[in-house]
Amino acid sequence: MFDLKGRVAIVTGGNGGIGLGMARGLAGAGAHVVVVGRNAGKSDTAVRELGKLGAQAMAVSADVSDEAAVERLVSAARERFGRIDILINNAGTNIRKSLHEYTLDEWHRVMNTNLTSAFLCSRAVYPSMKAAGGGKVINIGSMMSIFGASFSPAYGASKGGIVQLTKSAAIAWAPDNIQVNAVLPGWIDTELTQGARREVPWLHESVLKRTPARRWGTIDDMAGVAVFLASSASDFVTGTFIPVDGGYSIQG
Ligand code: NDP
Repeated sequence: MFDLKGRVAIVTGGNGGIGLGMARGLAGAGAHVVVVGRNAGKSDTAVRELGKLGAQAMAVSADVSDEAAVERLVSAARERFGRIDILINNAGTNIRKSLHEYTLDEWHRVMNTNLTSAFLCSRAVYPSMKAAGGGKVINIGSMMSIFGASFSPAYGASKGGIVQLTKSAAIAWAPDNIQVNAVLPGWIDTELTQGARREVPWLHESVLKRTPARRWGTIDDMAGVAVFLASSASDFVTGTFIPVDGGYSIQG
């Protein structure tokens, strides 16, 4: 049920953090993985690591907020593997400051990286998935898909948008046997949140206090949900979001 042998997955931001954790899960279940990021060195290292898990892996350098670059990356994946079964829209960024301090350029940068990229990549893989008779799209939201934060207005807007995009795509593509779901990670220890901890001094303790599991998540905590949503185990699950958060979102 969880076997991904022969399936081909594109993981945006798969060269580090949560994307790499999910890519490891998919590779371990037998999938071939296309790792997308802007930093070619980091992507090459990830590809070597995934190769050791037995996956055929390939790195593609692309900015996923760039329409032409997204079309090129999907063509490169199709050329190498002949099919695309799984897309994880994971690439993301944040600029932490209050709404009144945001420039329009900063707003666009966060929205384009986190939300427009998911639209572009999903649209670009759709013809391949439809032709193959089905597929899986996994969008990465956040606790800020549910909650707000004074220091993350654009990030919160983009992650709220991810959940709504997920629902619309799930409805539109259900007749094509394409399931579209979102994962909402809690606080996971990555480069992104190491930056947050530096910039927001009270964050570390407040996360520990509010998370019932009493720890930050690791990138390997993200592998299982990726395998579930990428595999036939989730064929009747679509349009929903799954928090992977050690209980953070159920704590009153
Ligand atoms: P990291 O900063 O560790 O990883 C971000 C990844 O996105 C990198 O691989 C980076 O690769 C890639 N990326 C960023 N911008 C672009 C771009 N324009 N084009 C292509 N790739 C890009 O962050 P996380 O692993 O923490 O975050 C991954 C996702 O999970 C994000 O969507 C984030 O919002 C979400 N998330 C994270 C949480 C956490 O606690 N860590 C909590 C909730 C959600 P490169 O630098 O090579 O471009």
